[in-house]
Amino acid sequence: MQILQAFFGFETMEKLKIAIQKSGRLSEKSVSILREAGISMTNGERKLISVSGSFPIEVLYLRDDDIPQYVKDKVADIGIVGENVFAEKGSDISIVERLGFSRCRMSLAIPKTEHYSGPEYFHGKKIATSYPVILQRFLDEKGVDAEIHEISGSVEIAPGIGLAEGIFDIVSSGSTLISNGLSEVEVVMHSEAVIIGRNDLSQSKREILNDLLFRIRSVQAATNNKYILLNAPNDKLDEIIGLIPGMKSPTVMPLAESGWSSVHSVLSERQFWQIIGELQKLGAQGILVIPIEKMIV
Ligand code: ATP
Ligand code: ZN
Repeated sequence: MQILQAFFGFETMEKLKIAIQKSGRLSEKSVSILREAGISMTNGERKLISVSGSFPIEVLYLRDDDIPQYVKDKVADIGIVGENVFAEKGSDISIVERLGFSRCRMSLAIPKTEHYSGPEYFHGKKIATSYPVILQRFLDEKGVDAEIHEISGSVEIAPGIGLAEGIFDIVSSGSTLISNGLSEVEVVMHSEAVIIGRNDLSQSKREILNDLLFRIRSVQAATNNKYILLNAPNDKLDEIIGLIPGMKSPTVMPLAESGWSSVHSVLSERQFWQIIGELQKLGAQGILVIPIEKMIV
């Protein structure tokens, strides 16, 4: 690929077509994940398609609900959608990568004045949703016979206007439910942004996809990790190293002051606060924590 690129640039190469949401909750993050992976796009979100000058990729801006079908129809090769949209419309295609942003859940909710006894509560009742496939799957699993009323938006007002007795919708903080007098009674699935794709990509498109995934993983590993430097008393060095094992093993260098060493390592964001406390207890001093821009894993 490199040799062809050097001679002809990207124009002559086959491009990987990625569909992202045109405007909505996923758009900004989808664009920034591509940017951080070194893929610069020339236009804003106004145009339908933009071509990257720095990577053999073409970006299509679409409504998120349409993306799985466009991928199935080969208009796009891959796409970024919420896992909820994939679960609703993604038959015959697969999740290629989990991206960890736009986390939410898909839940059933009923008026807060009602008593909830379990999934059988919904027996013979009407439920409003924009996600009939996921809901039907759940009802079948629980052996509940309910009527699904499909609507495309403002699902949360359905019980209040007498359209349905319950709803099945996206929940994040739960404040929309509360302001509509509803309470969440079943979490049916958790969702995050994912890259979806067909299983039958050509060899050259698969190579471009692998390169893209490598870049995205490097950016994500970097944001999930921090570089840490500290001064450690030599008699506690082994215990301190045990707490921050790093990618392979930490770098240890003697300080000018005898009895002390400088330790450099990588620490995951999740363990951060707990480990910092333990390091201090072991006598570590001058702890510096530095963001990492890219991390090749
Ligand atoms: P479009 O106009 O493209 O059809 P939309 O209104 O259907 O957009 P958005 O509200 O932008 O969709 O949501 C897109 C995706 O973001 C959802 O499918 C879901 O995965 C995720 N999402 C939705 N609401 C939230 C939320 N409150 N918090 C986090 N993620 C959310
Ligand atoms: Zn949508």
